[in-house]
Amino acid sequence: MTRQTTRGRYAPSPTGVLHLGNLRTALLAWLFARAVGGQFILRVEDLDRPRVRLGMTQQMLADLRWLGLDWDEGPDVGGLVGPYLQSMRQAIYEQAIHLLRNKGLIYPCYCTRAELARIASAPQGDDAPRYPGTCRYLSARERRAREASGRRPALRFIAPESPLEFSDALHGTVFESVAEATGDFVVRRSDGIVSYQLAVVVDDALMGITQVVRGHDLHASTARQLALYDALGCPRPKVYAHVALVVDDAGERLAKRDAPAGLDALRNMGYTADQVVGALAASCHLWPTEERVTARELLAVFEPSRIAATSATVRLPPAARTESLDARNGTLL
Ligand code: GLU
Repeated sequence: MTRQTTRGRYAPSPTGVLHLGNLRTALLAWLFARAVGGQFILRVEDLDRPRVRLGMTQQMLADLRWLGLDWDEGPDVGGLVGPYLQSMRQAIYEQAIHLLRNKGLIYPCYCTRAELARIASAPQGDDAPRYPGTCRYLSARERRAREASGRRPALRFIAPESPLEFSDALHGTVFESVAEATGDFVVRRSDGIVSYQLAVVVDDALMGITQVVRGHDLHASTARQLALYDALGCPRPKVYAHVALVVDDAGERLAKRDAPAGLDALRNMGYTADQVVGALAASCHLWPTEERVTARELLAVFEPSRIAATSATVRLPPAARTESLDARNGTLL
């Protein structure tokens, strides 16, 4: 792999069926990478074991393939920088934690859920609770007392004071001080599960990812992730694009838990892949109408500056098979 090669990725969590919003993000991530002749990597973020649903990884990969997406590396095709399932990478994350500990950049946090809830409910400037650094400033005696409780601590990363800057292909330049926005943040939870923030940085860095295209809900995580790239001594990805989320008719963002509108449901209704891709592409203004189009055909017209930056609904036309059945034999409906 040369330094010039664009390497994009899609990194779903197998906690529920991919809904139209997830599928639209996957399509855009694929288009961003493939439109510049880049490689595309599929990584499954299955670290949060209690939330992972059995069989969901296979279902997600099958859905993405049905949509017409392909990848050069992933859990089903392998690759040189795997494994591509986060659940198989625990030892790698522990090495990163070791490195951060040696640099004096992490500390144990003994705060209980109740204590953190009190912090979160205190008046805050914005909606993300900022950790005030309680356990960072414990005296040796206080720390011993907390250790004696026998509770396994979480590990927090010391947030840099100076603002971090990054450029988003859809939202322009962003400056953010992690110390002010979120404060010291968790890199390993008290139950031993490595946090999303750490795992995503370690994986993107080791997998040579240069282009991160993902949902806008993760825009606010980027500064924290950049702080970790810097602390680990890894080059940051060159391109970030946080794409708008899909909302329902009431303007609410789609959630996996209430997503009967997975592809299974649409396939049962007779929708074809090119109809779904057409509807997804139209919803982000890449395609004039909800007409059918394949992912590959979209490559020819893909232009990042045309992507709508605001959230949108996805409008599906009448299902194709239904139409043709209707045309052949009206009584079949
Ligand atoms: N696993 C995350 C999700 O499913 C995406 C992480 C990322 O793209 O950075 O929302």
